[in-house]
Amino acid sequence: MPDSEALLRVEHLSKFFPVKKHRLFEEQSYVHAVEDVSFSVNAGETLGIVGESGSGKSTLARTILALTPSTSGDVYYQGEKITDFKVGHAEQKRLRSQMQMIFQDPYASLNPKLKIGDAISEPMLANGQASSRAEAEKKTRELLEVVGLRPEVFDRYPHEFSGGQRQRIGIVRALAVNPKLMFCDESVSALDVSVQAQVLNLFNSLKNEFNLTYVFIGHDLSVVRYISDRILVMYLGKVMEITGYDQLFSEKTHPYTQALVSAIPEPSTAPRKNRIILEGDIPSAVNPPKGCRFCQRCFKAMPECSEVEPEMREVEPGHFVRCHLYDPKEANER
Ligand code: ADP
Ligand code: MG
Repeated sequence: MPDSEALLRVEHLSKFFPVKKHRLFEEQSYVHAVEDVSFSVNAGETLGIVGESGSGKSTLARTILALTPSTSGDVYYQGEKITDFKVGHAEQKRLRSQMQMIFQDPYASLNPKLKIGDAISEPMLANGQASSRAEAEKKTRELLEVVGLRPEVFDRYPHEFSGGQRQRIGIVRALAVNPKLMFCDESVSALDVSVQAQVLNLFNSLKNEFNLTYVFIGHDLSVVRYISDRILVMYLGKVMEITGYDQLFSEKTHPYTQALVSAIPEPSTAPRKNRIILEGDIPSAVNPPKGCRFCQRCFKAMPECSEVEPEMREVEPGHFVRCHLYDPKEANER
């Protein structure tokens, strides 16, 4: 799916972690955390990435942002290959500031001894977003107001804030260096439902105000779909589906996605739908089986599914699925 217009393009990206050996001559095995992942993100859109815990979402984001080295594959930002840069390269630094990550728990990344204002204005100065300390302070106070915090927050310390407030501070810190692309990794997962909605709405309004593009990662499809234009579904390190928001309810979705969709809570007045319960947990990503990664838990599995891995196919315009159910050749044989 090469797309020259894309803001971000990921091609055949893989990340394997070696597993510690227990015996001297044991063959080296690897956690296939991310395997052969390709997709692109267009400027101005929100791409959701969803999948159960352990499906490789965070590793994918970390590998794209070069927080961990890739095993193979390439990443292009604005058409420029960024996987080749040496760490610390000036150009890499410049591009890295355009891509920011917001984590589940911003508290873990805030220095408890540093005032909120300093934690935000210092990277601003270091990145050249402000030319003086006074200017950095002024911009920081403005940004705090934009996310709904009082400017006095500047002189407070991280422990003085609730989860929702800390997440707003994390957002300001990312915004401070003027990013174009924001990776939000489980950014609202730890928040209470009512606060979750407020922060999601904040993400939406900031998107327009600052011309942002989001990659919004989460394990909960009901949250991810709320904010996403397109959705990428991961399972055990692989992309199973890339779909537009509307196609999520089409008949041609991956059985795994169907199960995720069926788990979305609905208002109690809505007609009851059939909930698809997946048996068992996500299997180990160490030496994953041949065939489809999902076949052991799939309620539509066919004999070939455990033998041959399905290709990614475009089943409707802009809707890609990795499933033998939608293989035209095999459908003819059946
Ligand atoms: P998700 O974010 O979807 O929950 P992760 O990317 O955290 O998934 O993990 C994907 C897989 O990679 C898991 O099997 C996890 O145990 C493994 N993994 C993640 N980080 C490491 C690491 N640093 N070393 C070894 N294995 C890892
Ligand atoms: Mg994760």
